[in-house]
Amino acid sequence: MKDRLDQIKKDALAQIEAADALEKLNDVKVKYLGKKGELTAVLKSMKDVAPEDRPKVGQMVNETRAVIEEMLEATKTKMEKAIREEKLKQEVIDVTLPSKKSSVGHRHPNNIALEEVERIFVGMGYEVVEGPEVEYDLYNFEKLNIPADHPAKDEQDTFYINKDIVLRTQTSPVQARVMEQGKLPIRMIAPGRVFRSDEVDATHSPSFHQIEGLVIDKNVSFSDLKGTLEEFAKELFGPETKTKFRPHHFPFTEPSAEVDVSCFKCGGKGCRFCKGSGWIEILGCGMVHPHVLEMCGIDPEEYTGFAFGVGLERIALLKYEIDDMRLLYENDIRFLKQF
Ligand SMILES: [Zn+2]
Repeated sequence: MKDRLDQIKKDALAQIEAADALEKLNDVKVKYLGKKGELTAVLKSMKDVAPEDRPKVGQMVNETRAVIEEMLEATKTKMEKAIREEKLKQEVIDVTLPSKKSSVGHRHPNNIALEEVERIFVGMGYEVVEGPEVEYDLYNFEKLNIPADHPAKDEQDTFYINKDIVLRTQTSPVQARVMEQGKLPIRMIAPGRVFRSDEVDATHSPSFHQIEGLVIDKNVSFSDLKGTLEEFAKELFGPETKTKFRPHHFPFTEPSAEVDVSCFKCGGKGCRFCKGSGWIEILGCGMVHPHVLEMCGIDPEEYTGFAFGVGLERIALLKYEIDDMRLLYENDIRFLKQF
């Protein structure tokens, strides 16, 4: 019996030594230690051993098993280590190799201006809301107090999909949609693309971007509007910026105003940039027309509000001193790289 066990041990160790892959080690393990393995077979033949010898033989079997297991484990650890090292060697990075030049993209001036405007209003507690670019005539015009015979509805200015559907000419329909939901108070800006059938030139494009704002609450007054836009202008163009409100007319608001800011180039003295006037026009605004509130299901006796709209391209052109709006759409990499 002892000879048989010695032979098993010798064979097993030799095969472990010869194994050159983890799978082969596993084969050896199954062959000698498995359920149908050779050591198990020895245990099964214990019934032929004299009872007084059984403890001794049992001990010898266990010792043999321990030796084989130990050898298997040690070899396995060694193999795994070698595999890891080989892998590391393959993955090694030669830091002395010349690098591949990777080019980083630039943000579009429109996006930079938009993020800036959003940052300012979000900081004042406004929510950013988006809406559809293809819009019902009802939201784009009717609910904003622009009746069927209004000149703004002229087909020459508006892209009609059919009688009832247009490419939105402003982002105000988003405001009508929010007001209609009736969750008050409202403090929101609606940035987005709008469409007008304009010829392309240095200051016009059939597709451009607007950011419109709306506040509806109890006791909102024109001074709230002035304070808000003065703060906005200071944040955007610098703390020295002054604002001027000129009476104007918009169907959506009453009273309405256009807002000029003091020229941030010359500080108001007058220069080429502000065409000598010292002022630059930047946005339109006003108190939301009571009729608009009514049409959107808000009681104008209880609630008031103000709205404003600013062209995103106008801000980008002013802030980055770009003199032709077409540059913003041509995607010329030499132009975009400067931002
Ligand atoms: Zn100026």
